[in-house]
Amino acid sequence: MRSAAEASERTLHGLAPLPAERVGLGGAHGRVLAESPRAVLTLPPWANSAMDGYAVRAADVAGATPGHPVALPVVETVAAGAFPSRPVAPGTATRIMTGAPLPEGADTVVRVEDTDGGLHEVLVHDGRDAGRNVRQAGEDVRAGEVVLEAGATVLGTQVGLLAAAGVAGVSAHRRPRVAILSTGDELVALDRLDEARAGKRIISSNGYALAALVREAGGVPVELGIVPDAIDWLRAKLHEAASCDLVVTTAGVSVGAFDLTRAAVEAVGGTIDFWKVRMRPGAQLGFGSVRGTPWLGLPGNPVSAIVTFELFVRPMIRRMLGQRDLFPRAIDCVAGEPLRSAGGAMHLFRARLDSAASPPRATLAGAQGSHLLQALARADALLLVTAEMTEVPAGTALRAIPLGERMTFAGEFPF
Ligand code: AMP
Ligand code: MG
Repeated sequence: MRSAAEASERTLHGLAPLPAERVGLGGAHGRVLAESPRAVLTLPPWANSAMDGYAVRAADVAGATPGHPVALPVVETVAAGAFPSRPVAPGTATRIMTGAPLPEGADTVVRVEDTDGGLHEVLVHDGRDAGRNVRQAGEDVRAGEVVLEAGATVLGTQVGLLAAAGVAGVSAHRRPRVAILSTGDELVALDRLDEARAGKRIISSNGYALAALVREAGGVPVELGIVPDAIDWLRAKLHEAASCDLVVTTAGVSVGAFDLTRAAVEAVGGTIDFWKVRMRPGAQLGFGSVRGTPWLGLPGNPVSAIVTFELFVRPMIRRMLGQRDLFPRAIDCVAGEPLRSAGGAMHLFRARLDSAASPPRATLAGAQGSHLLQALARADALLLVTAEMTEVPAGTALRAIPLGERMTFAGEFPF
């Protein structure tokens, strides 16, 4: 049986970022740049005022004090959006607003608070701004210069720069379309809640969870619904799924009499690369391809499905998106309580991290069955206990993968 690290390597082998496409700035957020965008515009486009006040010559106001104010005639008023029509000659001032272009001749904006605010003549009673409050043309960005590097993810903090620099669109890797297929006769979607209420079916929670996780990871979920444990149905749906960039199925991958996913993959001419991984939860993980499209067969148990998503599916999505750091990053922590593991395989406990402690203390988020969704929903980390550890006393140094918003990414598989 393969280790999780070996399995991960197999799933990523030969997997490349998806081709680039042009995308408008509105759709660029969260995408990885395939080319470095260059500024179309120079910023600021012209020298302009950093203050509401008076554009003057520094030499005229340098000595101004409350006791010896300087009086200057005001030649005009320039608002942001307007342009000056007259230069500032020695001994004159232009009333100017923040962002308005600086008149020729001026090298200073005296803030309005240091004046009497006069409209025809202004009294400057403080010279502290001499030579200041002018934003120079091009001091932020020059037209033609690279503003973000290829390979970077476009973040909210960067969209403003792109817009200001006139970059209306970027070249970014396409988002992977991820087919999600739940298998099992016992499953219904929430639109058949009455059957679940009547105790006849269970909700296919994996379908909902995986769609959300795919979206969270930057992919586009293609929800193909539920197929019964019947080979013909499975074949038909796998065919449909293969038009996506990645096929994710859940359940039907263990040794039950109706576990047909493997047979269905083979029946559509797919390949099986591996089957089973040395980890818990998530041992029942299949990987291969369907009509050339990579396929991951996740276990049916909801906790196992989500844990294997984080360790295997998310890195594949990130690779296709063009991200460089693919893997959830493990952090150091200590066991906040004694733990027991069956050994023989790496175990991932659903845990809570108390980050007020240093290193953070990990305690169990609840009972650890792979069907128990509450403990997973309460957990904010997966706590790693290696195959060699069976008794883990409180205080033992361990590693954990933070989940959800706390997850960060690294270039290497976490264990
Ligand atoms: P299987 O792999 O088909 O043996 O399924 C393992 C367990 O996971 C069974 O208890 C299934 O009922 C459950 N299961 C399978 N698929 C789903 C799903 N989509 N949502 C929630 N539970 C599921
Ligand atoms: Mg089943």
